Amino acid sequence: MTDTLHPLRGPAGIVLGHETVDLMGNHNVPPSSQNYEVWLSYKLGGHPDLRRRIEEIVAAGHPFTDDLNAELHEAFFTSERFTAQLLASGESIAREINEVVAALQSAGQQQGDYSDTLERAASILELGIDARNLRELIAGLASATVQMAQNNRALTTRLQDSSREMETLRETLIQVRAESMSDGLTGLFNRKALDQTLRARMKESRATGRDLCLLMCDIDHFKRFNDTWGHQTGDQIIRFIATTLRKAALDEFCVARYGGEEFAIVMPGVGLTEAHTIAEAVRSQIESKKLFRKSTGEDLGKITISVGIARMRVSDSMEALMERADACLYASKRGGRNRITTDADPNARSAA
Ligand code: GH3
Ligand code: MG
Ligand code: MG
Repeated sequence: MTDTLHPLRGPAGIVLGHETVDLMGNHNVPPSSQNYEVWLSYKLGGHPDLRRRIEEIVAAGHPFTDDLNAELHEAFFTSERFTAQLLASGESIAREINEVVAALQSAGQQQGDYSDTLERAASILELGIDARNLRELIAGLASATVQMAQNNRALTTRLQDSSREMETLRETLIQVRAESMSDGLTGLFNRKALDQTLRARMKESRATGRDLCLLMCDIDHFKRFNDTWGHQTGDQIIRFIATTLRKAALDEFCVARYGGEEFAIVMPGVGLTEAHTIAEAVRSQIESKKLFRKSTGEDLGKITISVGIARMRVSDSMEALMERADACLYASKRGGRNRITTDADPNARSAA
C-alpha cells in the first residue's frame, strides 16, 4: 500500500493527479471520489485485472456509464473497503471494552468505599452510641446506601448500553463477512468462499468416505457475445447462468462465480452419475432458454456452457481436484462446447 502510494508524494504526485483527472475527462467519467479511486489505480497500474478490463472497454468503444463506473469500483475496491470496515469495527470493540473495564474498576472502588463505611459504622455501634450520634450515623449510612444504589444503576445502564453496542458490532461483522464472501454481480459465493468451502468439504469427505464432486463451467464464445451485445448485456447473461445454477443445485451445494464467466459447484454427498444428471439439466435449460436484451427486447440468440466434473479421490489436494475438473471442462471445449465431460470419460484422461 505504502509503495503504491509513494508516487503520490511531491510534484510528481500533483502531475499524476492532473493526468488522472484529464484521463477521466477524456472518457467522460465524472470526477467522483469512487471514480477517481478507480482511475488513479489504473494510472498506477496496481490492479492488472482492472487495467485489462478498462482497456477492453475502451477498445470496444463502450461509454463509461454510471452503472459501469459503479460496477468497476464495486469489482475492484470492495475487499479493501471491507478490510477498512473490519479494522474500524475492531477499534470500536477495543474502545468499548476499555470503557467497560474502566466503569467496572470505578464501581469496584465505590463498593470498597461503601463497605468501609458500613464496617466503620458497625464498630462505632459495638462501642455504644448516644441517640444524637446514632441519628447522624444512620443518616450517613442512608446517604451512602442511596449513593451506592445510584452507582449500581448507572453501572447497569452502562453495561446494557455496552451489550447493545457489542451486538450491533457483531451484526456488522457478520454482514461484512457475508459480503466479503459473495460476488457482487450475481450474489453467488466468490473465489475466496469457494476455496474455503471446497477445502472444508474435502476434509470431511476424506474423514467420512462420503462422495464429493466438483463441477466447473464456462460460458461458450462469451467474448463474441460481449463484442456483439456489449458488456452490460453480457452481465445480464452471467446473472441468468448464476440463477440457473443456483436453482438446479441442492441446498447443501456451494455455487460460486470464481472468474469473469466461470462458475463452480462443490457437490458434497454426490457421485459422478448424479452430478452429471444435475449438470445436464442446467446445460439443456441454458441452451433452450430464449434470451432477450432487457433494454430493447432484441433476440440475443442462444447461449451455451461447457462443463467439467471431477470426483474427489482420497489422495487429491484441492489443487489436484480443481485441475482435473478444469481439464474436463477444457475437454468439453475441445470436443465442440455445449457439453459435459467427467473424469471417468476417456476424453478427459487424454486431456489431463
Ligand atoms: P470459450 O468458448 O473458449 O470459453 O470462449 P470465450 O470467448 O468465452 O473465452 P475467453 O476466455 O476468451 O473470453 C472470456 C470473455 O468473458 C472475455 C470477456 O469479454 C468476458 N467476461 C469476463 N468477465 C466478464 C464480466 O464480468 N462481464 C461480462 N459481460 N463479460 C465478461
Ligand atoms: Mg473463460
Ligand atoms: Mg468462455
